[in-house]
Amino acid sequence: MQTIENAVNGARAVSASSRRTPVFNPATGEQIAELPLSSVDEVNVAVASAKAAAPAWGKTPPLKRARAMFKFKELLDRHAADLAREISREHGKTHDDALGEVTRGIEVVEFACGIPQMLKGEFSRNVGPSIDSYADRQPLGVVAGITPFNFPAMVPMWMYPVAVACGNTFVLKPSERDPSAPMLAWDLFNEAGFPEGVLNIVHGDKEAVDAILDHPDIRAVSFVGSTPIAEYVYTRGTAAGKRVQALGGAKNHMIVMPDADLDQAADALMGAGYGSAGERCMAISVAVPVGEETADALVNKLKPRVESIKIGPSTDEAAEMGPLITKAHQEKVLGYIDQGVKEGADLVVDGRGFKLQGYEDGYFVGGTLFDRVTPDMTIYKEEIFGPVLSVVRAPDYAGAVDLINKHQYGNGTAIFTRDGDAAREFADDIEVGMVGVNVPIPVPVAYHSFGGWKRSLFGDHSIYGPEGVHFYTRLKTVTTRWPAGIKEGAVFTFPS
Ligand code: NAD
Repeated sequence: MQTIENAVNGARAVSASSRRTPVFNPATGEQIAELPLSSVDEVNVAVASAKAAAPAWGKTPPLKRARAMFKFKELLDRHAADLAREISREHGKTHDDALGEVTRGIEVVEFACGIPQMLKGEFSRNVGPSIDSYADRQPLGVVAGITPFNFPAMVPMWMYPVAVACGNTFVLKPSERDPSAPMLAWDLFNEAGFPEGVLNIVHGDKEAVDAILDHPDIRAVSFVGSTPIAEYVYTRGTAAGKRVQALGGAKNHMIVMPDADLDQAADALMGAGYGSAGERCMAISVAVPVGEETADALVNKLKPRVESIKIGPSTDEAAEMGPLITKAHQEKVLGYIDQGVKEGADLVVDGRGFKLQGYEDGYFVGGTLFDRVTPDMTIYKEEIFGPVLSVVRAPDYAGAVDLINKHQYGNGTAIFTRDGDAAREFADDIEVGMVGVNVPIPVPVAYHSFGGWKRSLFGDHSIYGPEGVHFYTRLKTVTTRWPAGIKEGAVFTFPS
C-alpha cells in the first residue's frame, strides 16, 4: 500500500508519525493509500526549513522568482492530464472536471509570473525640498496554507504561487482525503528549480493545523474549508497575532426571472448544481424561480434532466458526475435528503436508492431535486455539499433578493434574466461576494480575486489576484533626503 510522503526542505520523506488515516478511491470504496498524520515536531521542522529559506528568497529579484514560476507553469501544462488523474482517483470527479480544476490553478501561476509588475510600488519625487518618497510591498516571511478536499490541486494553487512569487516561503497542509495531487504539483515545483524550503508540504489533521496556527514564525495563514473550521482558524490564528484569511462554506442561490430563457437556466442549474456531485463551494444549491408559473415550468424542465444525469467513475468518459468523497459524507448527504422529506419539502427526484453496477461500494448518491423548500428547513439553512438542488419559490424579485440577503452565507449567486435593469439592481443590492448575471458559477479569473461575504469569508482579504498580493505582502514607505548635507537645524514642529 502506498504511503503518502511529506515534502520538506527540498526532499520527500515519510512522516515518522504512528497516527495514520486511510485514503480511499471513492468510486470503489477501496483503500488506495495510507496517510501519516504529522506531529507538531514535524510541522516545526517544515517551518524551520521555510524560515531558513525565507531571507534569501525574499531578496531574490522578482524577475528571477517569476522565471522559476514560468518553468513551473510549463511543467504544469505538460503534466495537466497526470494531475487530473491523481485528482480523480482520490476525489472521484470526472477527468474533464479535474482538468478544468488544473487549468484554473495554472491560471493563478500565470498571474504569479507577472509579479514584478505587481510589486513595482510607487514613487513621488520632491514631496519636500530634496525629499523623495517611495512605497513598495515586501514579503512577510513564512506563510502557511490549509486546504479542503474538493479542489486538491487548484485551491493550494490559489495560495502558494502568489505567496512565493511575492517572496515568501510556504508551508502547505493539504486535505487528508486526496493528498496525491498536491504532491505531484510539489514534484513539478521542485523540478522548476525553486530553492529548497521555499515550498514545504506536511500532511496531517487538527494537530498539524493547530501547530501552524500557534507557530510564532508563521506570519500569515490562508485557509479554505468549511465555515466552522474557517471561523476556528481565523479566531485562533489572529489571537496568535497572524494575518488570516479563512474562506468557508456556502449556499449559493440562482434567481430565475420570469423573462429568462428557461432551457438555458435549467441547463445552467444542471452543471452548477450537480457538476462535481455538488461538492463545489460555488455550486448552486438553491434555485429561486420568481412567480409560480416560472417555478412550475422550471421544475418541469429540471426533472427529466436530473433523472438522466450520467453517473459513474472518473474512468468512464461518458460520466457527468462521480461519487462523493467519503462514506461518512455519503451518509450525511443521504441524511439531509431524509430530513428534507421529514420537514415537508416536495421530493421531485430521489437520488437515495442509486446503485452503480460493479461499483456497489462506491460513495454514489443520485441527483436529487426538491421543490417547495422553505427558509425554515434544515436543507435550506445548511450547506449539504452533495448533488441536491432545492427549489425555493419566490413571489417576486424583491422576495428573492430578501431571501438571499438573509442567508448566513454569501459566497456566490446568480441571476438569469433578459432584463438589464433587474440585473444591474441585483448586482448592486445583493449581499454576496461573487455575482453572476446569466453566468451560474461566477468564479473570478486569476487576475481578479475570489472571496465571499458574511460567513463565507473570515478576514479582510479575498484570495489570489491583487488581493492575494496584498495579503502576502506588507507596505513599506520610505522617505529620503538627498543630498544628505542640507542643514536646516533642529525643527520642533510637525514636518509639513
Ligand atoms: P474541512 O473544513 O473539513 O477541512 C478543511 C481543512 O481543515 C482540511 O485541511 C482539514 O484537515 C482541516 N480540518 C478539518 N477539521 C479540523 C479541525 N477540527 N481543526 C483544524 N483543522 C481541521 O473542509 P472539507 O470538507 O475538506 O471541504 C469542504 C468545505 O470547504 C465546504 O464547506 C466548502 O464549501 C468549503 N470550500 C470553500 C471554498 C471557498 O472558497 N469559500 C472553496 C472550497 C471549499
